[in-house]
Amino acid sequence: AIPLVVAINTSLAARNGMLVRDRIAMEEARNLDAIIFDKTGTLTEGEHGVVGTETVSSIDEEEALALAAAVEGDSEHMIARAIREAAAERGVSVPESEDFEAMKGRGVRARITGDEVYVGGPNLLTHLDIDVRSDLQRFADEAGENGQTVVYVVRNEEPIAAFAMADVIRDESYRVVEALHELDIEVAMLTGDSRDVADAVANELGIDTVFAEVLPEDKDEKVQELQNQGKFVAMVGDGVNDAPALTRANVGIAIGSGTDVAVQSADVILVQNNPMDVARLVKLSKASYRKMQ
Ligand code: ADP
Ligand code: MG
Repeated sequence: AIPLVVAINTSLAARNGMLVRDRIAMEEARNLDAIIFDKTGTLTEGEHGVVGTETVSSIDEEEALALAAAVEGDSEHMIARAIREAAAERGVSVPESEDFEAMKGRGVRARITGDEVYVGGPNLLTHLDIDVRSDLQRFADEAGENGQTVVYVVRNEEPIAAFAMADVIRDESYRVVEALHELDIEVAMLTGDSRDVADAVANELGIDTVFAEVLPEDKDEKVQELQNQGKFVAMVGDGVNDAPALTRANVGIAIGSGTDVAVQSADVILVQNNPMDVARLVKLSKASYRKMQ
């Protein structure tokens, strides 16, 4: 009788937009103690718009945007797309770039007319061991307090500009946190973004545990940290960066337009890109379990 119930469970799941790759994980979802969500593109829309710019006196906003767009020319990151769009909207002409290099979880680098230019977040500055000037720092602090992601432009080791980028929290994210709390499940968030942006989003949503400024290669360690506390843990993510964490989790959940890598690392795929489906998945698992007893 058990295989039959599991089969029903799986087709019911499919009708609810959940593709089950691992039936055991789907069944075990009823036992979850904690669920970790990727922030960008999962709890938020992941559609950053440039909402503010600050530059040092030697360069103006449009030059800064042109340089940044040139460096971001070959990046698929959502931040890169937003910078290219901002440059296009303002009609700035973007110079050629060479020797492009993506620095995972930090930013990007390229050579532009002989200058070495980086674009990236606070992680990048730490990595390059570069201090930001006070006027850029003040701008960055204020943006961070407003929950905006800040990226810097560094030319020949000198920070010359900063952009504030706003992302939008999804309505369904509020609802899923509430629904999971009703099920007595701890809600955690994992992001490569800065501490202040992460805290702003987490406070807004009522999230219990925040892991911020986590490099892609360290994401799975955060899953393990909760597992080491004796918790049964799910991870929800969409990006290439999330794959090791999805694999490490007891239940790996890929969401929406997830990358192939994320999909292949997941036990369950939520095709509708709706965070609320995570709560539905747990409820479905609990309901099926009761039938089996
Ligand atoms: P997330 O965990 O939010 O998906 P990532 O690990 O992809 O984020 O990136 C973490 C941080 O690295 C970003 O918040 C940003 O500061 C920086 N970063 C990554 N890629 C880029 C890029 N192409 N341009 C600028 N900054 C980037
Ligand atoms: Mg992501």
